[in-house]
Amino acid sequence: MDLVCLGELLIDFVATAPGPLRTAPGFVKAAGGAPANVAVAGSRLGLRTGFIGTAGKDDFGFFLKEELQKNGVDVRGLHLSSKGRTPLAFVSLKESAERDFLFYWQNTADHFMSVKEIPLSMVRSSKVFHYGSISLIHPASRRVTQAALRCALGSNNTLVSCDPNVRLNLWPSSHRARATILKTIETAHLVKINEEELKFLTRKRDLFSGIHAMSRFTDAAILVTRGVRGAAFRWSDSEGEVPAFPVAAIDSTGAGDGFVAGFLNQMIAIPGNLRKLRPCTETLTRWVRYANAVGALATTRRGAIPAFPTPGEVANLLKSDHATLPRSRQGILDTSRSKRGDPTSTDPPRARNDK
Ligand code: ADP
Repeated sequence: MDLVCLGELLIDFVATAPGPLRTAPGFVKAAGGAPANVAVAGSRLGLRTGFIGTAGKDDFGFFLKEELQKNGVDVRGLHLSSKGRTPLAFVSLKESAERDFLFYWQNTADHFMSVKEIPLSMVRSSKVFHYGSISLIHPASRRVTQAALRCALGSNNTLVSCDPNVRLNLWPSSHRARATILKTIETAHLVKINEEELKFLTRKRDLFSGIHAMSRFTDAAILVTRGVRGAAFRWSDSEGEVPAFPVAAIDSTGAGDGFVAGFLNQMIAIPGNLRKLRPCTETLTRWVRYANAVGALATTRRGAIPAFPTPGEVANLLKSDHATLPRSRQGILDTSRSKRGDPTSTDPPRARNDK
């Protein structure tokens, strides 16, 4: 296995017309959950991926399992449980391009997860173990996440990748969210966050001050995604920024998950123990540029899973655009409130549905 992702899996009911949820005329169901998206995006790029998580033994759980299977994801680690139902999120795109969410996530199947149901051997034998922070909220899924994490760290060569994907309105408090996320990234080898999450975790408004401040919490390589402004990175002494690809974006759902899969895809292509990698700035710039291309393409179609690109589509975008070739580091964060909202509010820091 190249990549095993663990975390939440849910149904997104996406409103069929823009506007607030209360005026939505109807909803269309789609698979949701950031770690599952990363597994699908990785599989589309040609990686051997697997997913670990729990959904309900109901029609929605069956649908989710089929979606993952159809997209080439190994689902041996997906448990469909009759102890609770599949979680749901109702999502609408508001006129402001922000998203409205309503979660149905009480007593759901994932809240009855148990370590016994998890094929830990999958984690141990994978090149990369990837997880998020939503499975750290409820005690049951937290125990499972921590067990899998210990297993990955205990193996000698599984690289641990984390995308906290902060959704503050799912946590009891923002203080708890911050403390738990900072604790969990301590042991990660690679952390992907967006720039609002960076500000939330480090309290720094300047991009590179924030990236440097992350070293107080973790030795992990840091990737910071910045939407239309591309991404920045730091891995040991190598750091830089890579601009985004100019595309006609229509829906940013899954862009960050595509980015993660794109970066991991590049890294996994390197033979040997990934934990020993020390890529130089030039290599990292190339990998982040590839990840940016996957993220950009993910925004050009509606939804997450249908939008993840194939290697051919990524190659075409990389060939067609020279404007995004490496340039030197420049970045001061725009300190004005961004379109994504304030991460210290109780709204989700990203108005997106890739929980
Ligand atoms: P997240 O979903 O984790 O917040 P971002 O929205 O920052 O992540 O998107 C991840 C990556 O996808 C960005 O770093 C960028 O490369 C690409 N991307 C996102 N939105 C756009 C866009 N509007 N145009 C071009 N690329 C984009």
